[in-house]
Amino acid sequence: MQKLAAGNWKMNGNSAALTEVSALLDSHPAPACEMLLCPPATLIAQMAWAARGSVLKIGGQDCHAKASGAHTGDISAAMLQDAGASYVILGHSERRADHGETDAMVRAKAEAALAAGVTAVVCVGETEAQRDAGETLAVIGAQLEGSVPAGATAATLVVAYEPVWAIGTGRTPTIAQIAEVHAFLRARLTALIGAEAEGTRLLYGGSVKPSNAAEIFAVPHVDGALVGGASLKAADFGAIVAALSAA
Ligand code: PEP
Repeated sequence: MQKLAAGNWKMNGNSAALTEVSALLDSHPAPACEMLLCPPATLIAQMAWAARGSVLKIGGQDCHAKASGAHTGDISAAMLQDAGASYVILGHSERRADHGETDAMVRAKAEAALAAGVTAVVCVGETEAQRDAGETLAVIGAQLEGSVPAGATAATLVVAYEPVWAIGTGRTPTIAQIAEVHAFLRARLTALIGAEAEGTRLLYGGSVKPSNAAEIFAVPHVDGALVGGASLKAADFGAIVAALSAA
């Protein structure tokens, strides 16, 4: 399995920010893990051009479940692919919260991604209230079961565990909490997709930074990270890539 360092730029960055891509590729031209950046849709084609001939993969942050049609403002998986994306983040907690995305919607989008040859990065994670209520594994299990697309394989699916309360807050779960959830995800995924679960990358996401990356990457069943804020700067994301390459 090739581990994956994925960056989610969210609604940040314009064409001037592409200097971060060249800086990242200058400092990490051949890391021992896969590198992925998911910029806003407006930057996908430009970033793909900036990354041409390199190991850096490009992804989208959402797609529509339909291949085309009267859906103003939306983008299909095939369009992402045409712009140079090979991955798409789906079901991020910000989209679940801001756009009311349900597990069924996430699954439909993920199936559209697979149909277009785009790998789906499906996000799951509990809120702080759900963790406090002891519901973490039940919530994550239900999200996984409801969101994983039919026919998913290790090559077409990545699962990101992102506790909602750890995103952008500087707070992270304990190592034991991450270990518990990732072992649970591997087992649940095996029940859902069989042997393909063994090679499916399970990412941790939520306030990953250069200072905590190495200890998170040492946790069993953590096969990489989905990084928000720290992916915007080549120096920080590069340090996380280096930590994953060394893990
Ligand atoms: C994210 O948005 O997926 C994320 C993990 O953000 P941050 O790293 O900033 O917490």
